[in-house]
Amino acid sequence: MRLSIRKYGDPILRAKGKRIEEVDDNVRALAENMLETMHAANGVGLAAQQVGQALQLTVLDVSQIEDRPSTMKLDGKPAAMPLVLLNPTLRLGEEKESGSEGCLSFPEITAEIDRSISIVVEAETLDGDDVQIEASGLLARALQHEVDHLNGILFIDRMNSATKVSHASRLKRLQKETARL
Ligand code: ZN
Repeated sequence: MRLSIRKYGDPILRAKGKRIEEVDDNVRALAENMLETMHAANGVGLAAQQVGQALQLTVLDVSQIEDRPSTMKLDGKPAAMPLVLLNPTLRLGEEKESGSEGCLSFPEITAEIDRSISIVVEAETLDGDDVQIEASGLLARALQHEVDHLNGILFIDRMNSATKVSHASRLKRLQKETARL
């Protein structure tokens, strides 16, 4: 089932996600619906807040993006997308790069954002396993963006002030549209 995607101005996007202590049918159904919603919207990542749930749950899939490379190892081995991650925590590599970023909660806005080039994520899976993911490139960027969402942080918070000013009127309009819903 496709879920409606919450837009900038919805207070749930600023809520910190609650840890998921137990994977039940509700969590499994939510993850499945989030994957369907993300794929239908041509997104590479979606956080639970973006579908109205303040939980530490995110889904990602960069496998369809061919012009921006990624690497991924899951517990040291190559693994397939999509990823469904619960309670993720990040270790950021020191080296950063600027790259273009968008967000399904901010239609029509893209911006250059500085992110770590490589990261390590510790998370749990729907099967209850602890996993460690080493990622670089677009996937590392997407993971940083999604883990930010789980903590109520949005990519506009990572824009430099000149970039944010350049998007100010669009952001204000988006907030107004959201308030009207
Ligand atoms: Zn986003």
